[in-house]
Amino acid sequence: MPSRLEIARVPALSDNYIWLVHEPESRETTVIDPAEAEPVLAEAERRGWRITQIWNTHWHPDHTGGNAAIKAATGASVTGPAAEAAKIPTLDRQVREGDRVGLGGHEADVLEVPAHTAGHIAYHLPDERVVFVGDTLFAMGCGRLFEGTAAQMHANLQRLAKLPPETEVYCAHEYTLSNGRYALVAEPDNEAIRQRVEEVKAARSAGVATVPTTIALELATNPFMRSADADQLAARRLEKDRFKG
Ligand code: ZN
Ligand code: FE
Repeated sequence: MPSRLEIARVPALSDNYIWLVHEPESRETTVIDPAEAEPVLAEAERRGWRITQIWNTHWHPDHTGGNAAIKAATGASVTGPAAEAAKIPTLDRQVREGDRVGLGGHEADVLEVPAHTAGHIAYHLPDERVVFVGDTLFAMGCGRLFEGTAAQMHANLQRLAKLPPETEVYCAHEYTLSNGRYALVAEPDNEAIRQRVEEVKAARSAGVATVPTTIALELATNPFMRSADADQLAARRLEKDRFKG
């Protein structure tokens, strides 16, 4: 039986979160979406964790920029979306919907969630009730539609909404306060949003991270996950893109 995973947050660039995930029995460690190498290598060193893998959710440089240097420093193998392999030259393993990626006896299911990018994937570890969603789902928000449609994003969020409610959602950015300000406009009568935004304001002014979130919390407060259909999601996404909160 593998041990429970230990998950460490590494802030990077202006608002990225890189996640270090460690299984103590096997001593395997994976890095999710390394925007850059230096703070990841420093945190792993500080914890005495040896990095054995890198998992990418999509090709954007703020999710893959550290791949080459971490691979060079540690020999880690790099896993990422097959559909974006041409844009992630450091990949060792290309994965698709339904593939599984092991970490010290735990298994992550690969979910294809295209919309932010055409090949975006998420890594869901059902036995640990955690999901790494990259730039698909954010606390009270969702990713911008750079390479896909509102219908695809709606389908992705409805799919994630069906995961067990206690599932912890690890997003790749600290966007919660800005998302929350828009959520208040999208759903002015939603008391759960109002309360959460107050909590988020307090956390952010104290320098505290607001990620991970949970599926249950997003079901109650995320206007994109709560959109009735793709049209409503599309309208909200456009409004948020222009929103100056
Ligand atoms: Zn991105
Ligand atoms: Fe990003």
